[in-house]
Amino acid sequence: MNLIDSIIALTYLLAASLFIYGIREMSSPATARRGNLLAAVGMFLAIAATLIDRQIVSYSWIMVGIVIGSLIGAVTAYKVKMTAMPQMVGAFNGFGGGASALVAIAEFLRLIGETDSLMRFDTSVTIMLSIIIGAVTFSGSFIAYGKLEGILSGAPMTFPGQKVINALVLISLVILSIYLVAVDHNMSLFYLLVGLSFLYGIMFVIPIGGADMPVVISLLNSFSGMAACTAGFVVENNILIIAGSLVGSAGLILTQIMCKAMNRSLANVLFSAFGTGDAGAGSIRSSGDKAVRSVDAEEAAMIMGYAQSAVIVPGYGMAAAQAQHAVRELTELLESRGVDVKFAIHPVAGRMPGHMNVLLAEAQLPYTLLHDMDDINVEFPHTDVALVIGANDVINPAARTDKSSPIYGMPILDVDKAKNIIIIKRSMNTGFAGIENELFYNPKTMMYFGGAREKVQELVSEVKKL
Ligand code: NDP
Repeated sequence: MNLIDSIIALTYLLAASLFIYGIREMSSPATARRGNLLAAVGMFLAIAATLIDRQIVSYSWIMVGIVIGSLIGAVTAYKVKMTAMPQMVGAFNGFGGGASALVAIAEFLRLIGETDSLMRFDTSVTIMLSIIIGAVTFSGSFIAYGKLEGILSGAPMTFPGQKVINALVLISLVILSIYLVAVDHNMSLFYLLVGLSFLYGIMFVIPIGGADMPVVISLLNSFSGMAACTAGFVVENNILIIAGSLVGSAGLILTQIMCKAMNRSLANVLFSAFGTGDAGAGSIRSSGDKAVRSVDAEEAAMIMGYAQSAVIVPGYGMAAAQAQHAVRELTELLESRGVDVKFAIHPVAGRMPGHMNVLLAEAQLPYTLLHDMDDINVEFPHTDVALVIGANDVINPAARTDKSSPIYGMPILDVDKAKNIIIIKRSMNTGFAGIENELFYNPKTMMYFGGAREKVQELVSEVKKL
């Protein structure tokens, strides 16, 4: 090994350590920023070392790619709304998978040109895997993107015999890759494999409801890592193998956490066509003869302003309304009046993992006020008022009591145990799961109807008058 090779190997080792340490730091809001920065430094080192290592294309082409890619990445990351984060991550995964597939296709074509006989077994196996996983990730991610962005219908797209056709496409992919690896590098069959892989990504995602897309995106994130890992084997690049495995396993763990927090199996998410993805557009609940108590800003301010303790429960509606800054103002105001304010964070509140943490951190709310479900649930019985801002499913007691409910068994925030409950939302509409919430009819509950941002702002003005 010459000096350059040693430097490259050591740089890769350093980059890999930074990735792992960065991920570890990201597990706490206090250190997440630093973790992100460390991982980014690791990625910079990895790219720099790879540029020294390889000279496959000229540096001018590489620079053009870096400049265009960085510009697109920076502009989109800067402009994206927090509520559109899942689809942005989806698009990034798609590009990652697509890049891995392209690398493997290019390598296949290059090796075919070099040798007439069959290429090495391990090389051809990893090429096939990289193409299939990468292409499925690409097309699947963009279907998920389309569903979340509203370009495609959020409803599950199903047709008779769909599962059989999907299974046939998958079996064809396996047979084609075995043939291409072991028998003959037939170009027509190779292009068929590439085409079917892209097709399978589409077929895999269209039957899944838009509302489950965040879980699908997390799974595809894991796929993009696996595709990168196999591409790493194809081009014999260690850091790509390491980074790919980290993304692959992190994505899988996240998928599992999301499924667990929703009390659903991955198979149920992938094959049950649950939800529509049109949050808040669920059926309008006819209140029938059940009474709903509503309050205005003045009354809500009196309850909040004179409470000793308050737990704020943010949900998807807070994100949709971008109410987090108004929420911070309210928190500071209440604290200045001596109210003990805490936040209850449900693991799947909003539409992506950590959604509420990110929004509240953006509004500069101290993370020490944020409490996980298990910690805060014991506090609700002693809490004077729970203020729910645009949350619905994560506080639905049916998850505890109604065995027929689709969310039965999902751990929830025990808001119903608080002494008073104020719920901000615009109507009696359902949330993501499309189911009624008995909590709205609880005698302790006061519905404070309206858009989350305006309602919190009005609350702030009224508390100031107290
Ligand atoms: P929900 O989707 O259950 O409810 C959100 C509520 O917010 C709606 O009922 C809606 O009622 C209200 N709302 C919407 N816009 C506004 C607005 N501008 N102002 C005020 N209120 C508004 O959200 P939760 O956070 O309680 O639950 C999250 C759900 O998403 C769970 O079912 C979870 O399983 C699911 N999920 C979460 C993922 C994650 O990673 N976090 C991933 C995938 C799914 P109205 O229309 O009346 O205003």
